[in-house]
Amino acid sequence: MVGRLAGKNCIVTGAAGGIGLETCILFVKEGANVVMADINPEALEKAAAIVNHFRTDTEVKQVICDVSSEQSVQELVAAADPWGGVDVMFNNAGIMHGKDDDAINTPEKIWDLTQNINVKGVWFGSKHAVLSFRKHNKKATSVINTASFVALMGAATPQLAYTASKGAVLAMTRELAMIHAREGFRFNSLCPGPLNTPLLQEWLGDDVEKRFRREVHFPSGRFGEAIEQAHAVVFLASDESSFVNGTDFLVDGGLSKAYVTAQ
Ligand code: NAD
Repeated sequence: MVGRLAGKNCIVTGAAGGIGLETCILFVKEGANVVMADINPEALEKAAAIVNHFRTDTEVKQVICDVSSEQSVQELVAAADPWGGVDVMFNNAGIMHGKDDDAINTPEKIWDLTQNINVKGVWFGSKHAVLSFRKHNKKATSVINTASFVALMGAATPQLAYTASKGAVLAMTRELAMIHAREGFRFNSLCPGPLNTPLLQEWLGDDVEKRFRREVHFPSGRFGEAIEQAHAVVFLASDESSFVNGTDFLVDGGLSKAYVTAQ
């Protein structure tokens, strides 16, 4: 059976984390070659071992990369050159810092760190993907940038640097989609709802009140799972979504459409 991503070379940043790892697994299952990139070498090693378990006749590479460094991202994108260049770029790495707070209490260095990784990282990934698409004369490519549902909704629980960064991802992705549409380069944002991954669960920790302030708003009554995001990413990466461009692709269990939740 031919996979939905057969013949595609894919790069995933934040590949050792919740969404990134699940996506890499689905990408290789769907027949893609995958470059897995993460800043955390030990976690990346473990994640790559898992992904390799699902690999058949495709290739998997690991690259240690800090997406906030342009040189690091340039080297990452070059890792797909021996395969004929990248076709799918998933700019997914992101942080939500424990000291991220409201306008008064967010330290400036946390603000800067968050924007450097969450916004500049997506810009560098998009920029070097476009340069590579042109270099390899690609005509049908897909860039998926991970934003968040908080880019579309006002959160009453403060995480100001993170929220601002994800709003920037959404706006940047929309413009990239327009600018490059006639070259055949698609750009979409993935907007996950709150998930069962370390990023959010470690941030919430055992703060019951903080957790309840969120859980009460879930129409489905539960956090989302990383695999549920990964399935959406496969669609956006594949040619099945060839006419989907510039979207804020929400995978949030209906959270953003809720007025009040059912009992
Ligand atoms: P995660 O923390 O499980 O994984 C994130 C990965 O990114 C980690 O492996 C981490 O090492 C890596 N990373 C961090 N900084 C990096 C850097 N500078 N360069 C390269 N890699 C770096 O998180 P996740 O839940 O899988 O989140 C993935 C994306 O989804 C993030 O952009 C996040 O903001 C977004 N998101 C998550 C949720 C959620 O509830 N978990 C909701 C909405 C959006």
